[in-house]
Amino acid sequence: MKVLKFGGTSVANPENINKVKSIVQKLDKEKVAVVVSAFGGVTDLLLNTSALAARQDTAYKESLKTIEDKHITAIRELIPVQNQSSALSKVKSDMNVLETLLEGSFLIGELTPKLSDKIVSYGELLSSYIISEFFKSEGLDAIFKDSRELIITDNNFGKANVNFEKTNQNCIDFFKENNHQIVVLPGFVSSSKSGDSTTLGRGGSDYTAAIIAGAVEAEVLEIWTDVSGMYTANPRLVKQAKCVAHISYEEAMELSHFGAKVLFPPTIQPVLGKGIPIAIKNTFDPENPGTLITKNTNGNGKTVRGISHVGNISLLSLEGPGMIGIPGISKRFFETLSLKNISIVLITQASSEHSICVGIADEDVDVAAEAVNETFEYEISTKKIKPVIVEKDLTIIALVGDNMKSHQGLSGKMFSTLGKNNVNIRAIAQGASERNISAVIKKDDVKKALNSLHETFFEENIKQLNLFVMGVGNVGSKFLDQIRQQKKYLKEELKLNVRVIGISNSRTMAFDENGIPLKEWETVLADGEKADKQAFFDRIKSLNYRNSVFVDNTASAEVSKTYADYLHNSISVVTCNKIACSSDYTYYKELKQLAKQYNSPFLFETNVGAGLPIIDTLKHLIASGDKIKKIQAVLSGSLNFVFNTFNDSVTFHDVVKQAQEQGYTEPDPTIDLSGVDVMRKILILARESGYQLDIDDIANEAFLPKESLETDSNEAFFESLKKYENDFQKMYKEAADADSKLKYVAQFEDGKAKVGLQKIPKGHDFYNLEGSDNIVLFYTERYPNQPMIIKGAGAGADVTASGIFADIIRIGNF
Ligand code: ADP
Ligand code: ASP
Ligand code: MG
Repeated sequence: MKVLKFGGTSVANPENINKVKSIVQKLDKEKVAVVVSAFGGVTDLLLNTSALAARQDTAYKESLKTIEDKHITAIRELIPVQNQSSALSKVKSDMNVLETLLEGSFLIGELTPKLSDKIVSYGELLSSYIISEFFKSEGLDAIFKDSRELIITDNNFGKANVNFEKTNQNCIDFFKENNHQIVVLPGFVSSSKSGDSTTLGRGGSDYTAAIIAGAVEAEVLEIWTDVSGMYTANPRLVKQAKCVAHISYEEAMELSHFGAKVLFPPTIQPVLGKGIPIAIKNTFDPENPGTLITKNTNGNGKTVRGISHVGNISLLSLEGPGMIGIPGISKRFFETLSLKNISIVLITQASSEHSICVGIADEDVDVAAEAVNETFEYEISTKKIKPVIVEKDLTIIALVGDNMKSHQGLSGKMFSTLGKNNVNIRAIAQGASERNISAVIKKDDVKKALNSLHETFFEENIKQLNLFVMGVGNVGSKFLDQIRQQKKYLKEELKLNVRVIGISNSRTMAFDENGIPLKEWETVLADGEKADKQAFFDRIKSLNYRNSVFVDNTASAEVSKTYADYLHNSISVVTCNKIACSSDYTYYKELKQLAKQYNSPFLFETNVGAGLPIIDTLKHLIASGDKIKKIQAVLSGSLNFVFNTFNDSVTFHDVVKQAQEQGYTEPDPTIDLSGVDVMRKILILARESGYQLDIDDIANEAFLPKESLETDSNEAFFESLKKYENDFQKMYKEAADADSKLKYVAQFEDGKAKVGLQKIPKGHDFYNLEGSDNIVLFYTERYPNQPMIIKGAGAGADVTASGIFADIIRIGNF
């Protein structure tokens, strides 16, 4: 014999009930018990209706009508008219009883647990009856049996305890006598010895089926639900979760204890001893093999089999110096909770015996706190123990697996993953079986925690990076193009799944949690909401994704002031904007410090030499113990372009204009021509070499006349260049006469930095620098005479975008 259980969604409407019928029909002549839940949502409706009545709110009548309609509609749609009468009259008479019960509750303004169970049992009683009538009308050999006649419990209403001796005998007797192929039974409901209706706890229909399967030693217990098995994590929260094909009873029990709702926790117990396998199957995808739960599994060599979580948890802690070494404190503590019928989900005790801390359901915590304070009233009054501390709105997440005990380092990996993603851990517990490690975290961090842990333990190969891009001008749009082109490669070769979740320019901003389609980012952005830097940050923070990266492609000082907020929330920052790193030394230092503290990289490779790996190389030199002695560099692609193009047959004005038009200068060309941009760059290199320098410490021998530098618009600036053409020509001639070329050089030596125009003679490393190329010479302890040279294209949107891209990949490998 087989036992099949169909959950609320599987019987939510006539269409689904037809699917159930097809599944049962396929069993051919095999004997089967079919346990069903209430129609989807009906249990909640019944509970809400009773609550309304108990609050003396007449709206309960309306609510009852909804329940009635749901059942009548099902009968009308499922059963042919000529066979409907008995089902219809059953619903009518049950509704009359329900109405009387609710009226009673309404009149006295109270709902006892006993009455609540009586009312809520109608959900399953009606669904099972209607389904049995439907099966009969379809020609199946089916009968209805009321589970309350089989399953006997104590009178702990709401979550009754089963008397297995009586129950097993009742089941054996009934199924021995039964000669129908299909018996349809209500899940969840039972009765006490005195004949009152009881229930087995929310989600308890699974348990009903398991009790029957255990009693009759069924060949298999099939739990038919709305997912294709038990997943590595709740598939509604973790998109990448996968079905676990085969799992042990103990693993399934731990996972369900810690919230994998797909199986009601006590379900395993009645079948475990008899070794009856449990199959978890999907009513909406019946061919899918789902999950098989049996005695031992080899776990496919996997240590962690699943990650689950229980929400609405509170921590209750008892602390105080009076607890040390005193026997009996724990006993009194736990006894108090047990007398109040409060179940404990998690326990931790500090090794100093200084505190006991338990995780319990939010709804129980006030009662629990009051009871514990009462128990320890004397100790609290003498200050030996503090009043209990309560912390609400928490969640427990647990890693589960049979083989976890034989592997070291799992908890380290778990906590470092959480730490890296800025998930604060409130308490930790490891079951004595070492089959689970659990941690208590804030409710708001659950999705991020589950996804990061899932990535660490199940997607070791693929890492998800979530990008938020501000600035989509020249560089930003090239960057988005490059991501789009490389997406597939990154996933396949580098195992990085890069998604752009948010973008913004100065006008609008747009978000898409599934990733903005990069082919259409322009339209998505144009249709976005009004841009706002603070709102952009707030949104990223509230999305609370793991591996979040803020990418700044602007040149805005305002934006650079927001980096600290990002880093503070473990959101990495990648920027081509030089302002932050060349502003106040204290801000630069603070950002570096935050990056370290919150494990969130702060990368700005493109601040110097666009895509050239200058800062990264410098970092590697220093990390390997080398010391920077001197840096000599041509760092301005724009100035290099200008002086490479300028000669006695063109005007200086035209060359600068051309540089601006070709995108080689900052929007304000004086930033380049004055040497400020180069000052910023050498400042950053000096700082990255370990020196504390500010922009004012850098000597700048400007070559532009003061008047040009002080112009207040681009037009005025270009006008002034014309005026000084003779001076520029003179500079050129002097250099050419000396067989030299003009280069704007930055130098750092002995802790001092300077920038200025120099005549570079033939044979010098800088002499042959082409177009907008950059060059850096690092003289270090290891490279004292022959410097390490980095040379290449140092300006332009394409190379800058690829430098940003490289920083993103560095974060991916972090
Ligand atoms: P039923 O009404 O069929 O009893 P439930 O809603 O009780 O169904 O259980 C199925 C739900 O359990 C799924 O829809 C899913 O959201 C949730 N769930 C939580 N954790 C897991 C998990 N690890 N694997 C599969 N489902 C899970
Ligand atoms: N109908 C009950 C509930 O919703 C029992 C179940 O479906 O398992 O909790
Ligand atoms: Mg369920």
